[in-house]
Amino acid sequence: MIGHMLGAALRWIKMQPQLDFRTCHAIDMPPREDLPNGALVIVGDRRAPKWVTIQCPCHCGTPLLLSLSKARRPQWSVRVDWWGRPSLEPSVRRTDGCRCHFWLRKGKVQWCADTGQP
Ligand SMILES: [Zn+2]
Repeated sequence: MIGHMLGAALRWIKMQPQLDFRTCHAIDMPPREDLPNGALVIVGDRRAPKWVTIQCPCHCGTPLLLSLSKARRPQWSVRVDWWGRPSLEPSVRRTDGCRCHFWLRKGKVQWCADTGQP
């Protein structure tokens, strides 16, 4: 039953090519060259994950590392809905490089107006 539901969910996700990010899980931090485009990787124990890592959605190739640990600042929270679509809170802002500023909601990137500006 669970397997059947999972299969249905995976088919549903594949039917949504417009998603910018899909959720993956990893126990250990993936090497930056192995970070797949369009994957949001939740790193650590599933019950207490420590990090989220994604490739910067502007395609500059920079891996972004976001801490989920309450002991660190800044700190993000990630929510994954039934369809595996990830949402991040708060927004992600790069203070160097491409200076991207975006929200990730339900697997979709929403760019902020000040993206690319110092
Ligand atoms: Zn970028």
